[in-house]
Amino acid sequence: MTAADTAIPDRLRSGPLLIGGDHVTDASGGTYQHVYPGTGQVNFSTEIAGEPEIELAVSSGVEAQREWASWTVDKRRAILMDLADAVGDHQDELSLLNVHDYGVPRLMSANGVLTERFLRYYAGYIDKPLGTTSHVEASSALNITEHEPFGVVGVITPWNGPLVVIGLAVAPALAAGNAVVLKPSELAPLAPVRFGEICLEAGLPAGLVNVVTAGADGGQALVRHPGVSKIHFTGGQKTARSVIQAASQNLTPVTAELGGNAAMVVFDDADIDAAAATAAFQGPLGQSGQSCACASRILIQDDVYEEFVEKFLATISSVTIGDPLRPDVMFGAVVSESAAERIVGVIDDAVNHGWGKLLSGGHRMEGELAEGFFVEPTVFSEVNDRSPLVQQETFGPVVAVTRFTHEAEAVRTANDTVYGLNAYVFTSNLNRAHRVARKLEAGSVWVNSHSDIEPQSPYGGYKQSGFGRSGGLQGLQEFLQVKNIRIAAN
Ligand code: NAD
Repeated sequence: MTAADTAIPDRLRSGPLLIGGDHVTDASGGTYQHVYPGTGQVNFSTEIAGEPEIELAVSSGVEAQREWASWTVDKRRAILMDLADAVGDHQDELSLLNVHDYGVPRLMSANGVLTERFLRYYAGYIDKPLGTTSHVEASSALNITEHEPFGVVGVITPWNGPLVVIGLAVAPALAAGNAVVLKPSELAPLAPVRFGEICLEAGLPAGLVNVVTAGADGGQALVRHPGVSKIHFTGGQKTARSVIQAASQNLTPVTAELGGNAAMVVFDDADIDAAAATAAFQGPLGQSGQSCACASRILIQDDVYEEFVEKFLATISSVTIGDPLRPDVMFGAVVSESAAERIVGVIDDAVNHGWGKLLSGGHRMEGELAEGFFVEPTVFSEVNDRSPLVQQETFGPVVAVTRFTHEAEAVRTANDTVYGLNAYVFTSNLNRAHRVARKLEAGSVWVNSHSDIEPQSPYGGYKQSGFGRSGGLQGLQEFLQVKNIRIAAN
């Protein structure tokens, strides 16, 4: 592997915005010095959109959406299929940009595969009937229910996995006939801007997908813009409150995909090897625990507790840790210095307040990794279920393992949180799988499985993990308005 194999293309080094089909620099929000998590060194700078750029992006979207809506369904479906092909052709490049964006190891950075699949799936809906006709009291009347796009929609992505969110939100938004103003986080702008370029290369109208990297101010300007008729927001609960408040100004509808704090329940009849490996990769290892689907609370039935914990810790200690650009590394850095400090703060608080017993990890990494943002995979046992360690989303490589005796106790503990995004169950008992899956308060329950985000499956939260769904028919409907037309007949 040479330096050239891992370099950011010169064109993207200035972190341009993409508005109306053109790269935009000298944006009014200034620039942000992006730091590479693997080394702690400034890697590139990115433009930050302010109100003028948001304004331009929305007006470009208005024009492009008119053109998009005027195309035949065959032409729109074909071009979204072409876009899926183009994203597929650029997988390696997009994966590399993901690594630079947020320090996910290259080995685990192929998020564009999902983007491609979502585009293909939603392209298939474009020429399928969603509308209905039904008989009404005046039986000779024609009563039609049909669906229309909103117009211009705002899609706000988090820094972790922006390509996955592009699949979950931009693909259905386009298939529904909308234009998109995509606002990535300043912490992860490269892959979204490259996606915007690929949209143009594939033949989408200029301005149909605009990419305006920004932080909170740009996000607020987008949400408050009267020309934006729908917001799809993915991020944390605190930001969601601010987004919903801003959206209330124009009563703009919001889909909210928020954080999780998933429980994984491992019963004594489970395949313990599979459960321990899945817990390690869905827990502290995958994206260094920086995933909304992170299994951060692992509940293990008494009889298999020791065996599970031994295998779980062995898997964790077997992975190669290092610079995320190295092809053999499975566990990389967390996104920023402030994230590393926050995560270590959660660990220190847990130790100092006696909220749990530290089984492994617990520190920033030293030696050649000291300059990057590396936090050891960290496991606590004997935890206080009411403590912040257990009740809050740590969003880092920190998990808690807990024993349980009875099924009802496991369900109660798993549900004892304000979050409800997803949950995992490991059991070989089919009856138990059905029973427990139904009782868990979560939008997705994965049984004997890792986190399966699939185009066909609606994904989204119960409780404070959000509302609305991404994926499946429900995900398309988030981007459509329903209109009823009744034509009287005499
Ligand atoms: P965040 O809430 O800090 O930011 C999310 C996005 O909102 C970013 O683009 C950010 O720039 C923007 N933003 C920040 N303040 C804003 C404001 N006041 N108004 C408008 N926009 C604003 O979240 P993050 O740290 O980027 O991402 C991590 C969070 O996202 C975690 O909680 C994680 O669980 C969640 N997440 C959820 C899903 C899901 O599908 N449910 C997927 C990925 C991440």
